[in-house]
Amino acid sequence: MTQGSISTRGAPSRWLVLEPGGSLGQAREWVRKAVGDLGADHCLAVQLVVTELLTNAHDHAGGAGTLRLRVEADPCSVYVELDDRSADAPILRQAKPEALRGRGLMMVDQLSAAWGSRPRAGMGKTVWAQISCETYEWEPCAEAA
Ligand SMILES: [Zn+2]
Repeated sequence: MTQGSISTRGAPSRWLVLEPGGSLGQAREWVRKAVGDLGADHCLAVQLVVTELLTNAHDHAGGAGTLRLRVEADPCSVYVELDDRSADAPILRQAKPEALRGRGLMMVDQLSAAWGSRPRAGMGKTVWAQISCETYEWEPCAEAA
């Protein structure tokens, strides 16, 4: 296992949980460690998706809540869930060619095998995404040890 890794790859999968309150940089570092055993492309795709979900929660949903991540070995897949405080479902918009922003969810949509959101009991919602080696032509991740 890679040094500094918190991934459970090869073990029965379980959710890794990051409580809210840290910086975006800290969350990215946590994700990098969580998926550090995966191949470079898969690892990067997960980091990009999580960054967009966190940014989206910050910009449109009153801040990011708890972040959960689960690494599955067979098929090689990463499930991401992020709670926020807005009940509004994220909207996939077609950004104008000249627009600098507004492409975040487009990227999530393209990198994910599936994604969506569901209402959360009490308040807000959970946005989720599945990033899988099965749906991409990137270099497959090595077999779990
Ligand atoms: Zn993979």
